[in-house]
Amino acid sequence: MKPAAVAELFTRFRAANPKPTTELEYSSPFELLIAVLLSAQATDVGVNKATRKLFPVARTPQAMLALGVEGLTEYVKTIGLYRNKAKNAIETCRILIEQHGGKVPRSREALEALPGVGRKTANVVLNTAFGEPTIAVDTHIFRVSNRLGLAPGKNVDVVEQKLLKVVPAEFKLDAHHWLILHGRYVCKALKPECWRCEVRDLCTHKPKTPDPELATAAAKPARKPVAQKIAEAGRRTSRTANARTMKARPSTGAALQAKMAEDALQTSETPARKPTKKGLQKAPAPPSVAKQPAGAAKTAKRRSSTGAASQTKMAGNARQTSEKPAKSSSTAASKTAKARAK
Ligand code: SF4
Repeated sequence: MKPAAVAELFTRFRAANPKPTTELEYSSPFELLIAVLLSAQATDVGVNKATRKLFPVARTPQAMLALGVEGLTEYVKTIGLYRNKAKNAIETCRILIEQHGGKVPRSREALEALPGVGRKTANVVLNTAFGEPTIAVDTHIFRVSNRLGLAPGKNVDVVEQKLLKVVPAEFKLDAHHWLILHGRYVCKALKPECWRCEVRDLCTHKPKTPDPELATAAAKPARKPVAQKIAEAGRRTSRTANARTMKARPSTGAALQAKMAEDALQTSETPARKPTKKGLQKAPAPPSVAKQPAGAAKTAKRRSSTGAASQTKMAGNARQTSEKPAKSSSTAASKTAKARAK
């Protein structure tokens, strides 16, 4: 990140929060030292919950040492790694009393010599209790510095050295708190809230997290206008009505078949004559097929054609029958003529 962008970054942080400070509750360098010591791998909220009961009974190294490890453990047992932390705190109280007159030393070396106090805890105490322009790099600051491109580095020591180099002097005292608060509440570990980040345009991290509300709205199908809904409902109703009508009516094909069957009946019936004793007789009128359903029409057609064939056969038989007497009469006449000739 370029120097102008770094200056702009901290100018915005300062405008949003002119007096940033730690969220740990304390009223003296000793209480701050104990609170920071207890806060390793724990939340400030959890630590505050414990120290609200502890500090009223142990505001000095002497009072806390008097509690002993067991007595202190009872107050801090809600915090992770509390047994080890209780041991370190009691030992720190003893060293403060024996080596520093019961006071918290203002030098990094002396602080880092205390049990359970590392570089980060020393930086916080020096910065917050004594106003030193140090920058303690914790998990939040490490992440934010890398994402922003402010002080990229593979470990906390590299990031700290880069921060001390790039952060302008006027912002150095509060840089620790601005960065830690930004990481805790905006540039969160799993899902940075880029859509509401005040330094988004200066940040090099990609991709930026979109506004979840806008993303949800985009995922939802657009609401249809009322007029369109009414038109669609009308089309649906009309389709249903048409389907019902088609179901009630015989199909066009069925109607056509019925008509063809009727024509076939009429055609086949015209020459058909019912043979009687007197000769051929007109066949009785067929039942009306056009008014019958398709199935009945098909059956009627089948029956009709069968009846016509049968009638034709019967007519042939009748002709044969009527011709037979004529044949026998001509045979008799021939016999008579032959007799006469003889
Ligand atoms: S834009 Fe996103 S990634 Fe960059 S600092 Fe802001 S919250 Fe973090």
